Amino acid sequence: MKSFEEVVQFHGHVCPGLAFGFRVAQAALDAMGARSRDEELVAVVENCSCAVDAIQVVSGCTFGKGNLVVRDYGKQVYTFLKRPEGEGVRISVTWIAPPEDEEMTACWQRFSRGDRSTEVMRAIKAHKGRKIQAILQADTEALFEIRRVKEQLPEQARVNPSIRCARCGEKVMVPRVTIVDKRSLCLPCVDIERGNQEFCKGKTMS
Ligand SMILES: [Zn+2]
Ligand SMILES: [Zn+2]
Repeated sequence: MKSFEEVVQFHGHVCPGLAFGFRVAQAALDAMGARSRDEELVAVVENCSCAVDAIQVVSGCTFGKGNLVVRDYGKQVYTFLKRPEGEGVRISVTWIAPPEDEEMTACWQRFSRGDRSTEVMRAIKAHKGRKIQAILQADTEALFEIRRVKEQLPEQARVNPSIRCARCGEKVMVPRVTIVDKRSLCLPCVDIERGNQEFCKGKTMS
């Protein structure tokens, strides 16, 4: 099992979101068994936050391998499924941070008014550190609701051949090619050509 330090090293800084992702991935592996070596495990994440980096490192479900599916609903929900059955767990974050004391509330107010004094920054850093520790040490039951689920799995990643775009000459995967006037174009070139056409039309009209 990867350590939190290894996760921090990958992510570049330490933050509460990362701590959550670490705990989510740990809970998933506890419930489902080994880390994903290839594609046997699929993670479906419902946000684009720091947590997702921890999930990639710990679970082995990564964006590049295609066994990390990002559905950006802005929800703290993570589903882990096993191939080929599609059985797994849905982990939903239920943790509520303990209420802040008056001193900390005053500190946040100063921060939001633009105060970046050493005093304010130090207090915020300490607060963040306490929050991270609380997340790392909390009981799993206090952090998440975990349900067993069975879902349809997303298609396995495929290696596709590439051809050269007729406009920019750069290589593009065949399933992403769009044919415009019998020319094979990449998507940015299709946009440019369409934009140009509209521009030309506008010009003729004026
Ligand atoms: Zn972060
Ligand atoms: Zn192109």
